[in-house]
Amino acid sequence: SYFSDLGLAEPVLRALGTKGYADPTPIQREAIPALLEGRDLLGIAQTGTGKTAAFSLPSLHRLAADPKPKKNASCRMLVLSPTRELAAQIAENMRGYAKYLALNIQCVFGGVPVGRQARALVPGCDILVATPGRLLDLIDQRALTLRHVEIFVLDEADQMMDLGFINPLKRIAAMLPKERQSLFFSATMPKAIADLGKQFIENPVRVEV
Ligand code: AMP
Repeated sequence: SYFSDLGLAEPVLRALGTKGYADPTPIQREAIPALLEGRDLLGIAQTGTGKTAAFSLPSLHRLAADPKPKKNASCRMLVLSPTRELAAQIAENMRGYAKYLALNIQCVFGGVPVGRQARALVPGCDILVATPGRLLDLIDQRALTLRHVEIFVLDEADQMMDLGFINPLKRIAAMLPKERQSLFFSATMPKAIADLGKQFIENPVRVEV
């Protein structure tokens, strides 16, 4: 099958063409149509399977199809990642996929001064990729609100647990609007992770690769 069969908008397909991607990977083939319909997703997948594009492409499509004026200190899509390296990599990939769309993508993580990140969030953005601790710092400083999140992605849930992010994740989840699309990814799905997932996703499509 081809990306063009999956229902993605032309600017998204054009960006894939620039990247030289010809065919969707298995997780992309299964996840993209369901995500375009607005379904929640439970993804059991490792890095290297193409999962970043699997959650990014339909999200970019949906955000671009329903443009909204920016609201101060807010984002429409939140992607949580356990480490700064992964967060930066996701943001970089998303910027590539969003090359032909007018969407603002920001990335925040710990270990660097918070002031510049806070200032970048003032006008509001479309997509925010974040590590949990720094995200909460920014919320506590009133540099960010999660009130307008429409799409929420929790990536690498098992690593999140290993790194002790369970309580930060619960705090973040409590601030998200009830009405939203949620995606939950983990390389492994032991019971503790599945139980965590149940707190975020509703009636999900399950994809295992
Ligand atoms: P990920 O699992 O999201 O980290 O992606 C792994 C690598 O595969 C990244 O370098 C992507 O740029 C690349 N990639 C993702 N989807 C495709 C595709 N459909 N065709 C070729 N490469 C891809």
